[in-house]
Amino acid sequence: MDIVDSIEDIQNELLAWFLNNGRHWIPWKLNKYGQIPKSREIISPYGIWIAEIMLQQTQLKVVIPYWEKWMRSFPTLKLLEEADLQTVLLNWQGLGYYSRAKRIHTSSQLLVKLINTNSTRNDSLWPVQIDQWMSLPGIGRSTAGSIISSAFDLPSPILDGNVKRIFSRLIASDKSSRKDDKRLWRLSNSLLSVESPRNFNQALMDLGATVCTKHKPRCYCCPLKNYCLAFIKYDPVDFPKKEMKKIISSQQIGIGLVFNKEGELLIDQRNENSSMGGMWEFPGGKKESDESIEDTIKREITEELGININVGEKLISFEHLYSHKKLHFTVHICEWKSGNPKALASQRFLWIAPDQLSNFPFPAANSRIIAALNKHLGFDK
Ligand code: SF4
Repeated sequence: MDIVDSIEDIQNELLAWFLNNGRHWIPWKLNKYGQIPKSREIISPYGIWIAEIMLQQTQLKVVIPYWEKWMRSFPTLKLLEEADLQTVLLNWQGLGYYSRAKRIHTSSQLLVKLINTNSTRNDSLWPVQIDQWMSLPGIGRSTAGSIISSAFDLPSPILDGNVKRIFSRLIASDKSSRKDDKRLWRLSNSLLSVESPRNFNQALMDLGATVCTKHKPRCYCCPLKNYCLAFIKYDPVDFPKKEMKKIISSQQIGIGLVFNKEGELLIDQRNENSSMGGMWEFPGGKKESDESIEDTIKREITEELGININVGEKLISFEHLYSHKKLHFTVHICEWKSGNPKALASQRFLWIAPDQLSNFPFPAANSRIIAALNKHLGFDK
């Protein structure tokens, strides 16, 4: 049986399944009265857009409290556009991949221009064209499609990770979903219900999250099981076909918590054009193969800030996994010895009281350092 011959049946089965089994509690998918939107009812794209960006690299259950906090801090596009980047980064702190927060901030300024009005509470004035959304930084075709279908109930196909998995299984694709991208997009476009695009796309996302899961798909209760080639002919967990795994490199990093005679702590702010630009950090860097970690800390801090220090006791060591590398951090308490700090490899530095650290946005890996320091200083009692 060809999928194309079953489009209407697939739509009906999926939409019927969604009515009873969809995740109707996701807050940004509800209207302003907290109700499930009716067909063609417009709901605010603002919260949907923020959630979509948060969800790009983070799971739904982690995103929800961050999204709720965000909507309390910046309830409208206008307030977000007027906020300074540091406040935006502070509200993002803990979600990781900070370039997303910077792109949201930049996009808010572009959107205000695009809407060209102060009445950003009027949801019908937001852009509805796919290319308008895709012109914003960090918004690809699937994210744009999801915003447009969720907010305006307009037919715009999606192809996020969950949907790729469902379609790869549906047609038992013999390629990885990246290599079969074009065919999967065509499928998403042909299957999309023009009458109920919002519910259809949401049904796909919900099916991927709750039934057609990566490791243990629950095919026995899947509305697509009669059309799914992977289920009918093969083992669904063998789809999508995998690509060769990336080799994750490992790196040793030495970090110094440098205190001056007044008990102040030295922090510096990453250059804007670097990864995690604008975030604050403790000075340090990569260990060379022929040096001890204490020598790394001394050398890096002289190179980064032009000062000399004494390296004292070790505070903590731990590993932090990024998407493409694993970093092993070793953190020592240090004492300033000589030299006036200069921002040689950062945009600026500050001496701050250690109990002020929570006022500055730090990358996620630093939360363990700050927790260990608070314990060391007795702030956790
Ligand atoms: S039948 Fe199984 S593999 Fe196929 S779409 Fe449904 S849950 Fe996924």
